[in-house]
Amino acid sequence: MNKQIGIDLGTANTLFYMKGKGIILREPSVVAKNSITGKVVSVGSDAKKMLGKTPGTIAAFRPLKGGVIADFDVTAEMLHQFFRKINTGGFFNRPNVIICIPYGVTEVEKKAFEDAAYDAMSRSVDLVEEPMAAAIGSGLRIGSPRGSMIVDIGGGTTEVAVISLDGIVVSRSLRVAGDELDDAIVQYVRRRFNVTIGMATAEELKKRIGSVHWSADNAEMDVRGRNMKTGLPTTLHITSGDMREATGEQIDRIIDCIKTTLETTPPELSADIFDSGIMLAGGGALLRGLPALITERTGLKVTVADRPLDCVALGIGKGIEDPRIIRNVVLSRSK
Ligand code: ADP
Ligand code: MG
Repeated sequence: MNKQIGIDLGTANTLFYMKGKGIILREPSVVAKNSITGKVVSVGSDAKKMLGKTPGTIAAFRPLKGGVIADFDVTAEMLHQFFRKINTGGFFNRPNVIICIPYGVTEVEKKAFEDAAYDAMSRSVDLVEEPMAAAIGSGLRIGSPRGSMIVDIGGGTTEVAVISLDGIVVSRSLRVAGDELDDAIVQYVRRRFNVTIGMATAEELKKRIGSVHWSADNAEMDVRGRNMKTGLPTTLHITSGDMREATGEQIDRIIDCIKTTLETTPPELSADIFDSGIMLAGGGALLRGLPALITERTGLKVTVADRPLDCVALGIGKGIEDPRIIRNVVLSRSK
């Protein structure tokens, strides 16, 4: 059987969409490797559980950095293992794949995505730019002559794009997104409480009580860490107010990136965006208070996509179900 699969290969998460089935795989883009034998021990959520906890012989890491493939062989192997996971019965052969690539990357980086998909499993590979897929997935009408703005806040990068007539008119990419927020939380807790917490704990804090605007719900949470003076384990009480302070600088940079993009948008299109507002996608769109803060700083209406973490995969999915939707945005039909 000749299957069609869409892949969102993100820095933080990888999603597979299968024609007629929808999203069939959602896994962290993490790999655990035995550093002596070089063998991949586990991938996805199993490997993510190992981050920061591995013994000397095993290294758990992310093969993508800042949106692009940093370790080619490991990325291809990770995709291959994900593919085996969805094809346990071996029911289908190499599928036709559409894979997303970040906007504005070099030809070499683009080719790495294409080749990784080939090596892992594919019969054919087509490429689609991520902001286009995110826009389609969040329900924006990309083919219309009206400009719309999509902001995708992922793990490694924030991508801001203005789209009109099936194309990207202006775009900016910033290497500040979810990971930098986690890092800022670790730094803040160290400075303020003299306690070291791990990245996984910081991410949990961000998801559960993270907030970037006073109007968002306030919450609190107890976390474990290590007291830097005594070296002993300790418990800390953290509030949403702490979260706002911890991540303020990074959030400012994300909003500045949106503002700079607006400043360089042609006037006709910025008038459209003034009417339609900004669409937020990616995991970072789930940060409490972010829509309110962006509206406060830009004066624009902000909508959060229905399923921000699934947006890109759903966008390729729509294109797989109805090729007319992405006819004008598929970049290469190779081999
Ligand atoms: P990528 O496309 O780079 O793989 P995703 O769009 O999958 O990234 O988003 C992953 C990022 O979103 C991670 O940094 C994660 O911590 C963050 N994230 C996920 N859920 C939430 C949430 N509820 N609040 C804040 N951040 C979140
Ligand atoms: Mg993404």
